[in-house]
Amino acid sequence: MPKRLNLSKEIEKQLPAELVNFMWMAGEIAHTRGEKLYLVGGVVRDLMLGQANLDLDLVVEGNAIELAQRLKKNVNGKLTTHSRFNTAKLLWDNWSVDLTTARTETYEKPGALPKVTPGSLDQDLGRRDFTINAMALGLNPGFYGQPIDPHGGRDDLKNELIRVLHDNSFIDDATRIWRGLRYEQRLDFHLEKKTLGLLKRDTEMLKTISADRTRYEVECILKERYPEKVFRRAAELEVLPHLHPSLRGDGWLAEKFEQARKLSAPAPPEAGLYLALLAYPLTKEETDRFISRLKLPKALAQILIDTAVLKSKMRLLATPGLSPSGIFRLLEAYSSPAMVANSIATESPTASQNIHLYLTRLKYIEISLTGDDLIQMGVTSGPEIREIMERLQKARLDGEIASKENERELVREWLTKRD
Ligand code: ATP
Repeated sequence: MPKRLNLSKEIEKQLPAELVNFMWMAGEIAHTRGEKLYLVGGVVRDLMLGQANLDLDLVVEGNAIELAQRLKKNVNGKLTTHSRFNTAKLLWDNWSVDLTTARTETYEKPGALPKVTPGSLDQDLGRRDFTINAMALGLNPGFYGQPIDPHGGRDDLKNELIRVLHDNSFIDDATRIWRGLRYEQRLDFHLEKKTLGLLKRDTEMLKTISADRTRYEVECILKERYPEKVFRRAAELEVLPHLHPSLRGDGWLAEKFEQARKLSAPAPPEAGLYLALLAYPLTKEETDRFISRLKLPKALAQILIDTAVLKSKMRLLATPGLSPSGIFRLLEAYSSPAMVANSIATESPTASQNIHLYLTRLKYIEISLTGDDLIQMGVTSGPEIREIMERLQKARLDGEIASKENERELVREWLTKRD
């Protein structure tokens, strides 16, 4: 008889000792409570692939909240619970573990969130998106480390395939279209032939997905190491136009995202910069529509609006011999990611250099004299102060003066002329 597959060695090798100990202990406690506990989802997939993943998702055939309350005592952690879904999040030291009661889902209408009721592990795995995400590992003492793989996920991992569990998967939840592209591109896998056919058949179902859920998918893509790969594939499969028909997922975008990474290194670019580059090909009106399509939060929306408005100023910003104070005036009102996006995407090297000058030097230049200093020198309080401050700032930016003393001299000169 062939030896039963067991992944306890992989668990030990790839996860930190503290998490391994936690899982052992959790399995033992579940066992004494007469419950069955499993590790599920992405972490199982990544354990099998030999890739790091510390997002532990546990599923219990039993009561997740009660089990979590019991485990909380052992690790001296903090617990947040959702009684409606019977889920719990346990936090201690730097660790976080999600516990869920095994459940079954029914979709009342496409795109809506499903109706959830308690169920078995098999039912819980059966509601998942792809075979490679529908595997579990036992944690109870009797079957610790044993894989449960009812949908052939391990074979699909070996053959590098993304496969849905049933023909209606994308109809039930079209966000799986985005998820499928994301896993395919992240892992360098392929959508399995039939799954690809279903995806093409069902792209229209993306219309059933709310703005919030669509935005979440875009945010997840932007957190990938190479988001442009997902957008390229989305363009190829006519999925990208569902975000906006004028978006580009081609080599242009790949080049701009690569530049954004170089500029932001060692940290990855912030979502606002990626999003501004993605939306760069859109007109101002199209940008507004894209913002409402994704119901973007205010800060991100502002970055996109700034990007579109600044784009229309690039010709002015490319004027030869533009003074530093002229550059300052053109740029001061806009958010930094919008400027960086324009400096990456503009075709004018001069405009790009001017943005660089603003971001590295001009925006930090300040005058030293305060309003009180000016009043003491004889400036009338009110609009004159503001006017003089602006003139001083212009002189500072253009290098005509360089110290507090220079500022005083200039103000004295102006006051003599005024009187
Ligand atoms: P990642 O590495 O991107 O975090 P993950 O597999 O951990 O991948 P999550 O989005 O955290 O992904 O979801 C956890 C698990 O929940 C998935 O592995 C999958 O089994 C299931 N899941 C998530 N979203 C869906 C969905 N829309 N439809 C079905 N199952 C889903």
